[in-house]
Amino acid sequence: MRFGIFGDIHSNLEALEAVLEDMQAQAVTHTVCIGDIVGYNANPRECLEIVRALGCPIVKGNHDEEASEAREVEHFNDMALSAIRYTRTQLTKEQREFLRALPLQRPVNAFTVVHSTLDQPNRWGYVFSCLEAESSFQYQKTTLCFFGHTHVPHVFIRDSKVHEFFYKKIDIQPEKKYFINVGSVGQPRDGDWRAAYVIYDSGANSIELRRLPYDLAKAQAKIMNAGLPARLAERLANAV
Ligand code: ZN
Repeated sequence: MRFGIFGDIHSNLEALEAVLEDMQAQAVTHTVCIGDIVGYNANPRECLEIVRALGCPIVKGNHDEEASEAREVEHFNDMALSAIRYTRTQLTKEQREFLRALPLQRPVNAFTVVHSTLDQPNRWGYVFSCLEAESSFQYQKTTLCFFGHTHVPHVFIRDSKVHEFFYKKIDIQPEKKYFINVGSVGQPRDGDWRAAYVIYDSGANSIELRRLPYDLAKAQAKIMNAGLPARLAERLANAV
């Protein structure tokens, strides 16, 4: 099976379309979404409908959670907050209920998916260091766990200790454990503006990071037309 594992789409329709087209060209057989379908960019409704239509396993991200609740938003910066307010006006009640009901983590075949961490998935902690990955590994029962949230494609590997590196391709050794960040479709933060996702080939036991250019100018124009902060449009180009 060839799994296309993607997330942190953040309402970027142009980036999502580029990724789905690449998955077809790459003969992906199954899709899995690691959350944050909405937030930041201009097309939450469209992105959510496209991802739902895939019928794939999905876990909830923190932006999906905030967009689906009626409560005051906490722990979000001004940019993220304006986008969540906009997102709430764009989604239907039924779409918000769909997001609210998503699980925080789940098994898919022989691997696990989560948006943030396995130790406290409801606290939305960021895994940037080996120490942070170590806490998550204590709860990881499968060889592979895919996650997102930081928008930086990166892998943590546990054997006798925890190592980390930036990857393009990983050959899986079943005696180790891997906590793999699949990067972000719609708002990369690793200095590369192109949409990111991974292909996990369970037959070949390998993981490949894919990067796709998309119509950046169109996505940026939509952000401006929607009255969202200009910095959100700039950020797509700077990828930080
Ligand atoms: Zn995100």
